[in-house]
Amino acid sequence: MTHIDQLHSYGLFDANAPRYTSYPPANHFAAGVGADNHAGWIAAVPTGARVSLYLHIPFCKRLCWFCACRTQGTKTMRPVEAYIDTLMTEIDRVRDLLPHKVSLSRLHLGGGTPTILSPETMTKLLTRVFDRFATAKGF
Ligand code: SF4
Repeated sequence: MTHIDQLHSYGLFDANAPRYTSYPPANHFAAGVGADNHAGWIAAVPTGARVSLYLHIPFCKRLCWFCACRTQGTKTMRPVEAYIDTLMTEIDRVRDLLPHKVSLSRLHLGGGTPTILSPETMTKLLTRVFDRFATAKGF
């Protein structure tokens, strides 16, 4: 049995699903939804919840012609470094809005190309995450 046959046997190709890149998806963006709603939704996460974190790194060394990801090509690290500083501020903001007793159960980095980050920048970013979030058992 090939890998594709095996995936078929799991039913992976039996349903059409939307391409999922953000929450809420772009077709649910509306002018009446803003920062206050966002803050309220985060603050409403139950105390003790296990949360997942997705860090979007929207940069690539060059763009592939077939790509539909929200990313941009860059020849220098200057915009990347500036973005990471803003992302760390966002991590702080989200953590401050969440109830105290939440724990991080999943961490996902996507893009773009997360490996565009230098080891030092990746360390800085992940240190911020783990300084701010306690990890759930089994993380
Ligand atoms: S996200 Fe991946 S596929 Fe898209 S442009 Fe970057 S490297 Fe290419």
